[in-house]
Amino acid sequence: MKSSLYLGQFSKIKIFVHWTFLILIVYIVYAGISAGLTMNAIGWHVLFISTIFVCVIFHELGHALTGRKFGFKTKNIVLLPIGGVARFEKLPENPKQEFLVAIAGPMVNFVIAAILYVIIQPSVDYILSLDISSINATNFMVMLWIVNISLGIFNLIPAFPMDGGRIFRALLAMYLPREKATQIAASVGFVLATGFIFFGLFYNPFLILIGAFIILSASSETSIVKAQALLNGHSVGEIVMTDFASLDQSISIAEASEVVLNGQSSNFVITSSEHNILGTLDRNQIIKSLSSMDHRTPLAQVMTKITQTVPAETPLRELYISPLLRNNAMLPVSEDGKIIGVINLENIIEFLAIKQATPQWKSLVQRNRPT
Ligand SMILES: [Zn+2]
Repeated sequence: MKSSLYLGQFSKIKIFVHWTFLILIVYIVYAGISAGLTMNAIGWHVLFISTIFVCVIFHELGHALTGRKFGFKTKNIVLLPIGGVARFEKLPENPKQEFLVAIAGPMVNFVIAAILYVIIQPSVDYILSLDISSINATNFMVMLWIVNISLGIFNLIPAFPMDGGRIFRALLAMYLPREKATQIAASVGFVLATGFIFFGLFYNPFLILIGAFIILSASSETSIVKAQALLNGHSVGEIVMTDFASLDQSISIAEASEVVLNGQSSNFVITSSEHNILGTLDRNQIIKSLSSMDHRTPLAQVMTKITQTVPAETPLRELYISPLLRNNAMLPVSEDGKIIGVINLENIIEFLAIKQATPQWKSLVQRNRPT
């Protein structure tokens, strides 16, 4: 999270604000100055935007805390100029759970709006006579009320992967395979996002950003779901690498760098003198330690120690989305308490490519296991 500023945490969920958020504040100040507003008026605008983003944090917490109820942890919440993102370690796949996690965010905005309504109790005449050309002490609360209703409604637009799109996919997934449901939701999302970009060109540049964000994230989510469908029914044991480069823990990083230069391997398993696997190391780690440590340092001191092994029977679709795979260059695979090989993301990506080319691949698999 180098590019983000840590704001604090709520219920053990860390909240960050992305540096690009500054652009938004600068934009408001700039727009205010160009419109000839006083510093006082600009201050009200900045306060207003900041308050909206506090509401956005509550919205994201709605997702995060509902997810937690079903056992899904949130890594953090990041505020971007176009809204917030609650980053889950893993997203719910059960349609009912996905539906509830997605709808919780907009619901929070409706609850905030309801609370504000009770506090201000605006009459219809008052709302109609409201001067919305600028924010000030008189209209602040009413404007915040309107914004929360708008945020709730806007997020319900079924543009996957916006909340409304997730709700839409969850509803479809109750009757269709998840992959098909995602495809339909993403296609609808694409059309709506294109609409956002088109309207954004004339009315609001932020809609262009939101549209682009939807298109990018929809395509990445669609490819993940597609990959998961291909991995369905396969286990880690089927593609475990039993033939891998290993290095003894006692050799130095200088010696290891020679091996990197002379060979084709970029991922290594670090073993003890009894050939037990103790850790893993990749090319980048070796090069990095070469620049920061004594060249004679043994690999035992720089390797990533094995703290967890992946059982061979683990479904591949589960490992594919697991943060374990993304946080480790390589993972040892175990069977009956014994390490039988290693697996990494590249492995799975290769398997996906083969599977896509030959859907009947399953029948070809006969791995040579070490005895
Ligand atoms: Zn949301």
